[in-house]
Amino acid sequence: MTQNVINFIKFLGTAGARYVVARQLRSSAGLWMNIDGDDVLIDPGPGTLVKCFSSRPKLDPGKLKAIILTHRHIDHSTDINVMIEAMTDSGHNKGRIVIAPEEAITGEPVIFSHVRPYLSKLEIMKPGAEFEISPNIRLTTPIAHQHTAETYGLKFITSLGIISHIVDTFYFDGLLDAYSNSDLLILNVVRLSNKNDREKGILHLTVSDAERLIEVIKPKFAIMTHFGLTMIQAKPWEIAKQMAEKIGIPVISASDGMSFDLGQIKDEE
Ligand SMILES: [Zn+2]
Repeated sequence: MTQNVINFIKFLGTAGARYVVARQLRSSAGLWMNIDGDDVLIDPGPGTLVKCFSSRPKLDPGKLKAIILTHRHIDHSTDINVMIEAMTDSGHNKGRIVIAPEEAITGEPVIFSHVRPYLSKLEIMKPGAEFEISPNIRLTTPIAHQHTAETYGLKFITSLGIISHIVDTFYFDGLLDAYSNSDLLILNVVRLSNKNDREKGILHLTVSDAERLIEVIKPKFAIMTHFGLTMIQAKPWEIAKQMAEKIGIPVISASDGMSFDLGQIKDEE
């Protein structure tokens, strides 16, 4: 039975980095968002389709308006083709869209050519691009991230407020401006600390990067997710608690299956 709940973000998975994904220490399924009744899926990593149906209440992929892929890495993209089939009922459900970087459809594509005709639109991310997902949801991709694939973070403009998702990236000051005015800030915090990460080619946010971003952007709520092994071992819920006490902004560490009520971010009228 599906339930008529609106305005939430459900973390079907919270795993980041190879080790955590390969051993499923946490689920690597994507992030499901509902705004004013419209459903959107972000980064359908391994297990997303299965998690939709094992979720309580179940999440019906046929209701999705759009699937958004931030970059082609496998922990974000493996279920994208089966999710496009499920969203569109192999082309029978019209008006469905996918928004992804160009790199996801060129070279060795992660979005297969046979599912592309099922979509009403396959939109390509660019720095500063804006997309209309539904009358209730607009998406901008303000800036290209510094990551080992072509990657964009997300800024949703909704009736509830601005919901931003800073996905995989190395820290750089441009992020502060790109995600300003966010009411809710979701951050992929893969690393506990940065021990010569750039030299090693590991381009991810750390706890201190997340703290700086939250402190400067000042959202009403911040949620950390996409944890690598060093984060999981350090108990992200304790890190979130300490950070919240230090900077005076509610910081939550996501857990698998956690649902966040988006009604909380709306200004009182
Ligand atoms: Zn990545």
